[in-house]
Amino acid sequence: FISAIVGTLVALSIVALVLSLVRVEDVMLPPTVKYGMVFDAGSSHTSLFVYEWDSDKENNTGVVSQTLSCDVQGQGISSYANNPPEAGNSLRECLDKALQIIPAEKQRDVPAYLGATAGMRLLRKQNSSATEQVLAEVAKTMQEYPVAFKGARILTGEEEGAYGWITINYLLDSFTKYSPKAHAWLHPETANIFGALDLGGASTQITFMPEDSLLGQNEGSEFTLYGYSYNIYTHSYLCYGQNEMLKRLAKELISSSSTLVQHPCYPKGYTETVSLSSFRASPCTDGSDPRLALGDSTVTLEGRGNASACLAALRKLFNFSACGHSQDCSFDGVYQPPLRGQFVAFSAFYYNFKFLNLTEGQPLAVVREAIEGLCTRSWEDLSSSYPKENPKRLPKYCANANYILTLLLDAYKFNETSWNNIIFQMKAGSADVGWTLGYMLNLTNMVPAEAPASLKGHRP
Ligand code: AMP
Repeated sequence: FISAIVGTLVALSIVALVLSLVRVEDVMLPPTVKYGMVFDAGSSHTSLFVYEWDSDKENNTGVVSQTLSCDVQGQGISSYANNPPEAGNSLRECLDKALQIIPAEKQRDVPAYLGATAGMRLLRKQNSSATEQVLAEVAKTMQEYPVAFKGARILTGEEEGAYGWITINYLLDSFTKYSPKAHAWLHPETANIFGALDLGGASTQITFMPEDSLLGQNEGSEFTLYGYSYNIYTHSYLCYGQNEMLKRLAKELISSSSTLVQHPCYPKGYTETVSLSSFRASPCTDGSDPRLALGDSTVTLEGRGNASACLAALRKLFNFSACGHSQDCSFDGVYQPPLRGQFVAFSAFYYNFKFLNLTEGQPLAVVREAIEGLCTRSWEDLSSSYPKENPKRLPKYCANANYILTLLLDAYKFNETSWNNIIFQMKAGSADVGWTLGYMLNLTNMVPAEAPASLKGHRP
């Protein structure tokens, strides 16, 4: 009998030991790496971003890093309106690349999104059934891959602006900061939150936290992040992206009387032939303009390299008088509260200024001088000085840079002083600045509304 009791006790203690070992192992389990992927289907091209983070830190700030960025070959998905299956196929190369990096056993858990922006918003205006087909085809392709497909859709301009804003402030750690003194995570001064300036091919977005709340305004959005509520202003201007702007400018310069048109923003010695039908291809330049009623004829744009005439022509693309005497108005009658704080200007704001070596915080006078200098250089001089530069982009930097000046100064109302609050930047840490990270963070609930328990009084 005694030996039976001893035997049972031994057996029980073995079970207890095994159980405790299992528990210890449970607790000691190292955090696992999680992945997520987002396609940015822009107007001129598509990129895939793969992100990774440690599973045990997912609700902290600034913990997600970018593992891969992959440029999809060819044009943006809206260019496949006449051949939607090819829009899907165009994504394959980048999907394959992503799956080479993500361990096989994790792939099925990877949330995969595609967000399309202004190029698809424009296509939807012209041809909604082709738009749906393109979205269906990209979704179909993504679903063929062993990832957790979460949807392919068109973002609103306001979402695009707001997610860019979330990305920047997440990457720059401006939402919450740990204070060793207070032994707590604090909300930094809201004045230290960054605004976001995004310039794409077909639209541009401005997003910031204004001084006064925008309750009741169309342009206001409210986010509760890490237990703190942010009222932000965001507006997206369709047809004010740089490619659409260049088309609109060319259309304005064309007069019905001549097929040779002087273009103040293109370099001297550079000519470009455009077909009038190309203007009908976009809702930004379409319309019942009699100048376009010339069937399929072409017009030659002849560069003049004249910076001040270029600026003047660009200003005409904005309707400033629609604001009347209102101070709180940008252009086209759009409400905009006074600017506040520092801004990060990314995407084409950055690309053009990077080309001009103007991303080091140069004062406005230096910037103006550099842009004027660029505009006066002949095409012959430019093309021999920048042999490695994309020959399609090179003749357009003068127009784009002057457009950026007009947009920032005349439209968004930056001035000589507040100009110094603009940081031209495309990366923060390892990640690209854009709407994709903010979109994924929001849809995977990684920026919680509540200050998470692990953050309260947590020491890093
Ligand atoms: P989206 O395709 O809407 O994101 O537009 C990005 C804009 O930036 C388009 O106008 C592109 O032509 C332009 N862009 C993209 N990459 C570069 C680059 N490396 N240099 C200059 N412009 C660029």
